[in-house]
Amino acid sequence: MTIQQKIQQLRDELNKHNYNYYVLDNPTISDFDFDVKLKELEKLEKENPVFFDANSPTQRVGGSITKNFKTVVHKNRMYSLVNSYSKDDLLDWEKRIHKMLGTSEVEYTCELKFDGASINLTYQNGQFIKAVTRGDGVQGDEVTNNVKTIRSIPLSINSDFIQDFEMRGEIILPLLGFNKMNEERVENGEEEYRNPRNTASGSLKLQDSAEVAKRPLDCLLYQVLTSERKYKTHFESLEQARKVGFKVPKTIMIAKTMNAVFEFINYWDSKRYNLPYETDGVVIKVNNLQQQEELGYTSKAPRWAIAYKFKAEQVSTILNEITYQVGRTGAITPVANLEPVQLSGTIVKRASLHNADQIEKLDVREKDTVFVEKGGEIIPKIIAVDFTKRPENSQPTIYATHCPECNTELVRTPGDAKHYCPNEFGCAPQITGRIQHFISRKAMNIDGLGSETVDLLRKEGLIENYADLYNLSVEQVIPLDRMALKSAQNMISGIEKSKEIPFEKVLFALGIRFVGETVAKKLAKHFKSIDKLMTAKFEELIQVDEIGDRIAQSIIDFSSNLGNIHLINRLKIAGVKLAVSAESLENQTDKLKGQVFVVSGVFHQMSRNELKKAIEDNGGKVSSSISKKTNFIVAGDNMGPSKLTKAQDLGIKIISEQDFIDKIKE
Ligand code: AMP
Ligand code: ZN
Repeated sequence: MTIQQKIQQLRDELNKHNYNYYVLDNPTISDFDFDVKLKELEKLEKENPVFFDANSPTQRVGGSITKNFKTVVHKNRMYSLVNSYSKDDLLDWEKRIHKMLGTSEVEYTCELKFDGASINLTYQNGQFIKAVTRGDGVQGDEVTNNVKTIRSIPLSINSDFIQDFEMRGEIILPLLGFNKMNEERVENGEEEYRNPRNTASGSLKLQDSAEVAKRPLDCLLYQVLTSERKYKTHFESLEQARKVGFKVPKTIMIAKTMNAVFEFINYWDSKRYNLPYETDGVVIKVNNLQQQEELGYTSKAPRWAIAYKFKAEQVSTILNEITYQVGRTGAITPVANLEPVQLSGTIVKRASLHNADQIEKLDVREKDTVFVEKGGEIIPKIIAVDFTKRPENSQPTIYATHCPECNTELVRTPGDAKHYCPNEFGCAPQITGRIQHFISRKAMNIDGLGSETVDLLRKEGLIENYADLYNLSVEQVIPLDRMALKSAQNMISGIEKSKEIPFEKVLFALGIRFVGETVAKKLAKHFKSIDKLMTAKFEELIQVDEIGDRIAQSIIDFSSNLGNIHLINRLKIAGVKLAVSAESLENQTDKLKGQVFVVSGVFHQMSRNELKKAIEDNGGKVSSSISKKTNFIVAGDNMGPSKLTKAQDLGIKIISEQDFIDKIKE
């Protein structure tokens, strides 16, 4: 086999596995073996640059920067859709179609209307050429490099399908991925994304395609456009497109009558909440392509298609009061306290109002009757005010000027949507929240101490900050509610043990705004000690990988605060790790970079925790459960049988403690 053939073989194989995983959701190879093949291909491509291919599976990780997206005129205009809101609307549409075609022999397809960003993908001779956003329908932005990172979009296909065609579809952010992105943002003290649709379209316009690659975007296709008359119907062309590798949702159905269309609508109106992504309606299309051509387009939309919009589950209720919540970072969130009302199967009492701009935009006031809706987000939102029901003596909402907890004047920095309470050290929820964050599992992981106990300790005046935890004694905490000798001892020994927690976790535990888990790791690795970090200049900070202006400024603010300097000194005296230990510095390598391990069973040469630490010190990741993402299982004695079967099913490599030790000594 020549090198060129080998490269081609690897590309074909990897494309097939991408398809199995991201389109069929049915992987037939372990992630580890996939990575091995990908690395091999990367190496061969690097050594043989003549065989570079922009559509190679190695190109999906992104990394290109686009400052200005090129405007591209669409070959075929991207139309909008006529909307309808009732079954009568649909019957009228059918009548018009019958009349125009001069026949009542018309078959329809029913599809879900996906809520994301529309995209046009061009393919020629089996190769992906470009991706362009809808824009104004006539011209859009070319976002090829960003779209390439979406694994379910094929970059090369069997060219027997059609030589020259466009695929139309919707780029979406599935709810699970969206909520996960938001959890991370909350953890980092950042404002949550509002909804999956805006986040999906925003993602397409990010300048750094490596950033896009990290977002769990997907692409659902709903139309094949070509001048080749290979297929007679819309349905057939999509079925064939699915066969060559496109993600065409299987929810599409043929409806021979309008009654069948109504059935489809009714079914999905109630089942749509079980879908992994948002849908806001159904699109009904004339199935026969010849008939589609005859019907043609109006200036805005095809005559051969119509959208039916689901009624969003919406209720109206009275807004009793607007209150303000203070988060651990001091961010203020206005909350609408509602007259309890039933919505999408749950009773809703509160809705988020996001920030001052949102309140102003809605012109929402206390005692107003408001419309509440539940989208994909966890917290319901207020859509609008029913102005006809506004009480006569109603007064415009004046946004809180002072913190509801400590009465300090709120601040809002330009460019920030939220107001903040700047009283970091005197504002109760900020103090408590910070301590609760400090002890949490991903931070200092203090056994025997939970959020509620922190509340109690604060109320009793036993602690005022996280450094105070290290001065607590068993005698002091025994008198607390529901505390017994045993639990008091557990708590104090848990606090004692936290002095062993490595520096990177301590850094995360400090609760510096925008310094999440990943950023803390990066900073710890770069600066190696709190002293170096706290004396670093702005210019020095932004040199670090992934540290931008905002994070750098937040670290500077933290470090220049006397209260913080004092706290850090006390943690130091207590013996908390505020620098990377010499020993772990010595042992740190990148040998296991990108590899995910699960540790199971009992070990002899090192403890479980030592083993986990060794994995991380060498750049690997430890995961608690076996999944498709796992590369290795380090199995000790008595590994659970169910774990064993699962690992075997997924084809994950099982290695012994000794194998592991040999691996890192290599
Ligand atoms: P609108 O934005 O309300 O004018 O609706 C038109 C848009 O709906 C199109 O640009 C598509 O992006 C989107 N859409 C979502 N799902 C479908 C589908 N199954 N068929 C056609 N268009 C769809
Ligand atoms: Zn406050």
